[in-house]
Amino acid sequence: MAGRIREDVIVAIRERLPLDQVVADYVALKPAGAGRLKGLCPFHDEKTPSFNVNASLGFYKCFGCSASGDAITFIRELEHLSFTEAVEVLARKAGVEVTYEQGGAAPRQHGSQRQRLLDAHRDAASYYAGQLRDSPEAEIGRAFLRERGFDESSWAHFGVGYAPTGWESLTTHLRAKGFTNEEMLAGGLATQGQRGTLYDRFRGRLVWPIRDMKGDVIGFGARRLRDDDTGPKYLNTPETPLYKKSQVLYGVDLAKNDIASRYKAVVVEGYTDVMACHLAGETTAVATCGTAFGAEHVQVLRRLLMDQDEFRGRVVFTFDGDEAGQKAALKAFADDQRFVTQLFVAVQPDGLDPCELRQQRGDLAVRDLIASHVPLAEFAIRSALSRFDLDIPEGRVSALAAAAPVVATLKDWSLRDEYARRLAGWLGMDEQAVLARVRGGESPESADRQARSRRPAPAVRPDPRDPGLIVEREVMKLAVQRPAMLGPEFDALDVVVFTAPAYAAVRAGVAKAGGTATAVGGTEWVTKVRDAVETDAVRDLVTELAVESLQTVDEEDQRYASSLVARLEEMALTRQIQDLKGRLQRLNPVEQATEYNRAFGELIVLEQRKKALRERGAGAV
Ligand SMILES: [Zn+2]
Repeated sequence: MAGRIREDVIVAIRERLPLDQVVADYVALKPAGAGRLKGLCPFHDEKTPSFNVNASLGFYKCFGCSASGDAITFIRELEHLSFTEAVEVLARKAGVEVTYEQGGAAPRQHGSQRQRLLDAHRDAASYYAGQLRDSPEAEIGRAFLRERGFDESSWAHFGVGYAPTGWESLTTHLRAKGFTNEEMLAGGLATQGQRGTLYDRFRGRLVWPIRDMKGDVIGFGARRLRDDDTGPKYLNTPETPLYKKSQVLYGVDLAKNDIASRYKAVVVEGYTDVMACHLAGETTAVATCGTAFGAEHVQVLRRLLMDQDEFRGRVVFTFDGDEAGQKAALKAFADDQRFVTQLFVAVQPDGLDPCELRQQRGDLAVRDLIASHVPLAEFAIRSALSRFDLDIPEGRVSALAAAAPVVATLKDWSLRDEYARRLAGWLGMDEQAVLARVRGGESPESADRQARSRRPAPAVRPDPRDPGLIVEREVMKLAVQRPAMLGPEFDALDVVVFTAPAYAAVRAGVAKAGGTATAVGGTEWVTKVRDAVETDAVRDLVTELAVESLQTVDEEDQRYASSLVARLEEMALTRQIQDLKGRLQRLNPVEQATEYNRAFGELIVLEQRKKALRERGAGAV
């Protein structure tokens, strides 16, 4: 066991390796003013960036999940490494030699396991690449690639290699380089036979090195070439300390910069599809490796796909039109709708994958395929329709029955209504009838749940970046920081305008502290509000609201304050109107005429108030 890493090593790393450079391997960072950068936090799931980097000080802080620290903490926590391992990773990146306090200045015989595994993979990749280039038995692999339109320069670009048929080709090679059996097993490069002997995991196959975002090889995908190979068509590295298939995206090392700058990522199905897309000029293509595209893959892409203010990129899935692809897309749709408006699908009607498409019709056809993407929601609905004959009334009625539940699963109300209208168009049916059908799909229990969720709940800290709560937060920030700008208007707000219990609790504190009508502001005011709130959690929130900057350039702008208040009231009215409309739909205008007419009159009043407010609120966030 080597001793502690010398302090001067850490100092040298800090000097040569700015934090933003370390973070940039994992997260796309955008300037956020005053020497700061921000991005989507890699430690928690978020839609708008709250991960802040102060590059000159070398510290980061996430205002979403409270993760914070320096470059070493960042690497440790993200890669699950020990302190020593993290320093070794950074030292390598910075070009600093690691020296230890005990045992003089000599580097350790063996670095951390992680570093050893990375070294073994790097050696294995170059060994495989050499085999593909020079070995006579690799001709079958070279022919495979040439037939698919890949020339030698593209093999090199992607590092494609060939694993010889011998049982111990790579193992012998790595052993000669000083790697142990344990290391080869831990890295998934070798497997152990019944008698304990080691043999190569990949034999007689084409191999694609799979790299992480930094460009380090962490595993391989290997394709069967020979008929006598009884294994699966594709064989991948198993789960290892380096390789986590639920997060790995093939091609991400080559694609990451273009994904970030073009706000687009294309997800294809195989290694050759990634190659074909990149060579055709679609350099944002990646593929999952031996597993379906899942939530953790989305997270990896989202961290790259962000704008200065929010995640606005597009993720385009390509499918060769077969049912498996459709199923995968529909599953993604059903699983997680938070990003549904960012998900798109491109389907090649002839059932050609990007690799075949490029071979048969050239680069342009690949780019056309990807450009032809449609929103995932549209794809899901059209897939439901495709099983029916829409030329006959019976077919259209059945198609509506099949598609309405799909539309009804859209969680975003406005999106759902929009797609109900489009569905009516695709079916040539009456809009109102389709809308009613889609809304009728809501179960009474879900309506109940919604009603319950509006009742006061424990005041948990709201996500500061929750887009649905931005106006509430902004108004609360004003109430704490600049109460005079809100004046009596804020005190007069109905309590229902605050949907987040925590903001409602702060607002109660503001009232208890005397209200905004007479408050002057400053430290004294913040202290007063802090003292007036009920719990420590809400007190912390008050501090947070006092520190966070306002989302306006001119913090003295009176119009900003009043348009925010108007917008807040408008949002509350919209919710009330929605509830009222739902109630009207459930009432029978004949049998429950009195109640119906009263609700209808109420609705008209609310709509008029909303219209007036909207005019006043123009220009709010
Ligand atoms: Zn975070």
